[in-house]
Amino acid sequence: MKIRKGDNVIMQNGKDRGKKGTVTKTSPDTNKVVVEGLNMVKNFVRARKQGQKGQIIAKERFVSASSVALICKSCGKQTRVGYRVNGKTKTRICKKCDAEI
Ligand SMILES: [Zn+2]
Repeated sequence: MKIRKGDNVIMQNGKDRGKKGTVTKTSPDTNKVVVEGLNMVKNFVRARKQGQKGQIIAKERFVSASSVALICKSCGKQTRVGYRVNGKTKTRICKKCDAEI
């Protein structure tokens, strides 16, 4: 998976298109990520006991990793991720400025 936890990303589609956030969770199995503050869903939780108040809980929902684009930390641009292989280690690089991500 190209996106990792802690990456700064920009949403490319959906209602939060164009908004930026930080990846807080990744799910490599399903190729999905959670971006802090984006793609929020509101759940209304009913009061279960008398006297208790119902609550609205906003929570981030997983989005497909393909609908977010990485923002490079060195050039600050929206970019695609490339890889550079150095012996046994593989590092991610920004396709725009070649910096390691
Ligand atoms: Zn860059």
